[in-house]
This record gives sequence, C-alpha cells and structure tokens, in this order.
Amino acid sequence: MHYTFLARTDPGRARDNNEDAVLVDETAQLGVLADGMGGYNAGEVASALAVDMVVRELRGWLDLAVDRASVRDVRRAMEICVDLANRQIFEAANTHAAYSGMGTTLVMAVLHGDILIAGHVGDSRLYRWRGGVLQQITRDHSLLQEQLDIGLITPEEAEHSGNRNLVTRALGVEDTVLLDVREVPVLPGDLFLLCSDGLNDMLTDEDIAATLASGLSLSVLAVRLVEEANERGGRDNVTVALIRSKETPKKSGVMAKLLGK
Ligand code: CA
Repeated sequence: MHYTFLARTDPGRARDNNEDAVLVDETAQLGVLADGMGGYNAGEVASALAVDMVVRELRGWLDLAVDRASVRDVRRAMEICVDLANRQIFEAANTHAAYSGMGTTLVMAVLHGDILIAGHVGDSRLYRWRGGVLQQITRDHSLLQEQLDIGLITPEEAEHSGNRNLVTRALGVEDTVLLDVREVPVLPGDLFLLCSDGLNDMLTDEDIAATLASGLSLSVLAVRLVEEANERGGRDNVTVALIRSKETPKKSGVMAKLLGK
C-alpha cells in the first residue's frame, strides 16, 4: 500500500494564537496532531513539545527497526514515545511557573503495511472515510463522551452542551498517561482524517462527509475543511491531517516480466 499525507493548521477567526500543532512525515509514514491548553502561551508549548518529541523519537525508532518491526513493536514504540513526551511536558509544567497547568491532547496514526495504528489521548479525533461512509475511529476522552456513555445526555443535547472542551485525559497533567491504541485495517482508497476539536465543533460529521465526498486532492480538501470551519464561526484553532491510501502500482520492468510478475 502507498500513502500520501497532508496537514494544515489555522488559528481560526476568534483567536490570535494557535495552540494546535501538527506534523506529517511521508518517509516515516506517520502523522501526529496535538491541541494544547494552558494560560498565556503554555498551550502552544505543550502541543509543540508533544508533536516534535513524538515524531522525532518515533522516526528514529522506525529508522532503526527498518522493516523488521511487527505491528506489536510499533504499538509499543508509540506508547514509549508518548510516555516520554508526557514526562517532558509534565516536568516543564512543574518547573516553570509560566507553564504551570499546561497540557495537550494528541492523536496519531502510523502506517505499517496495510494496517493503520491509531493512538490518542483527549478529544482530538481520527475519522475514516471509506465507500461514502465517515466513521469516527477514536472515542473522545471527554466529560461529554462520559455523559453520553452513561446516558446522562442525548447526542442532540451533546451538540449544544456547554462543556464540550473538558477533556478527561491529556499529556502533561500527570506523570503517566494512557495512550488508547487501535489497529485499523486499511483498504486502497481509504481516506483518514485527524483533526482538532476546532474542526468537529464547527462542523457536523455530515458536513465533513460532504466535503470528503468531493474526492478532490488532499491539499484542496484540507483548505476546504478549514475554510468551512471558519465560515461556521471558527471559534477555535482548526487543524487537519489527511492520509490517503493507494494500491502500490505493480512492477512492470523487464525483470518483472521475466519473472512472470
Ligand atoms: Ca481546541
């Protein structure tokens, strides 16, 4: 399987700063997105630390492992890298008064053959678009999701809830953090979307699906998603990362013909 990646971030219409951070690495076949929180500019520090550290550490590990790593190995490496990032943010938050109380969500996708390994903490999301259907792969670690789970509120009430942004799990808040990890089998033509809540708070799943259905290039899709969130108010920073899968083209050289491939 062959994968293409694209990321875009925007401060939105209401905020001067951007506390989201995102990085995609086509060589290492991964994408990481974080949505920071904390006073002054601490949210920006937390999300940047998380994304930089997880990408750097994981890239180094994947380089060393070459193709020998199993899905299980990659999962373990993701957990270790997120744990390292968590400790660094937690330490910074407890050492510098300006960073006190900072934290960040994180959602990541690592492609390994035809498996996408998803990891997340908090309410940044991963969606899969396949055959005209949009499916949310991650489950928010948020107060709202907990209220939904126990039936305290209905999905309709949730859409208008005032405590949308209260996450129940984040990096940098405690000395350890639990990364939710899932393996998602990939088919050619699948499109994956990682996003911060600045997107899915402004747009419904139906809105997102309608945009992805256009089948345009990743760069156009990313621009459109951000524009639409801004047109609906852009009350928060908006960040997206897109990953599209394609069947690897068959080899058609002389040797391939000789070998009957
Ligand atoms: Ca946000």
